[in-house]
Amino acid sequence: MSGWVDSHCHLFACEDPGALLERAIAAGVEWVIVPGVDADSSVAARAIAGEHPGRVLWSAGLHPHDAARWQQEHAAVRDLAPAASAIGECGLDYYRDLSPRDVQRRVFAAHLELAAELGKPVIVHCRDAFADVFAALEDASLGERAVLHCWTGGPRWTRRFADLGATFSFAGPITFDTGETVRHAAAVVPRDRTLVETDTPYLTPPPDRRATNEPANVVKVGAALAAVWNVDVDEVAALSRRAAARVFGEPPS
Ligand SMILES: [Zn+2]
Repeated sequence: MSGWVDSHCHLFACEDPGALLERAIAAGVEWVIVPGVDADSSVAARAIAGEHPGRVLWSAGLHPHDAARWQQEHAAVRDLAPAASAIGECGLDYYRDLSPRDVQRRVFAAHLELAAELGKPVIVHCRDAFADVFAALEDASLGERAVLHCWTGGPRWTRRFADLGATFSFAGPITFDTGETVRHAAAVVPRDRTLVETDTPYLTPPPDRRATNEPANVVKVGAALAAVWNVDVDEVAALSRRAAARVFGEPPS
């Protein structure tokens, strides 16, 4: 049986990343991706990968919430990028609007350019910004190397992004009572371009949604996806692991 890959967990934001990784491995997780959200956390993600050979890939980028800090962050992010497995987390967040939208768009475009220049995948955060993320990805032509993390679009946007060749990653919301839209989206995604993630420490699946999330819970996300697809969980593990390895590569042991 294939192990699980948690394609998105911010282990640097957790108290004991080593203990969480051990719990994840015991739950059937093979490896994880730790996306940075700014220069410092990208360095921390790289350190976690170094401490756990064969278990962790990391990425370098600036989260859209902090896009206004690009001036101070971009040199360090660019320096880190060549050794990273992906660029991001980056993207557009028009739900919280913590940085001005025009600045978010400019900084997202810079990440996409960097990804294209280095031939790396990009980890995309998209919240209430589907049209503008679509336009940016259409220009970037990254195909399956554009990974839509914590995908929450409905079936219509899902089909459009699928036609663009993007990869989809599902998180906790697919397990929520309120996750009906996400489950409808999951029904129409290309199954060979679908990943699962926890977005640790956020978005904990039930029953204890207030608990801190951890990579072991990716198994619950995979089970919810298996229920939508009406297939065995092993098939979801195998498909999502294969897609993760194809898009990101695998952690060196
Ligand atoms: Zn994230």
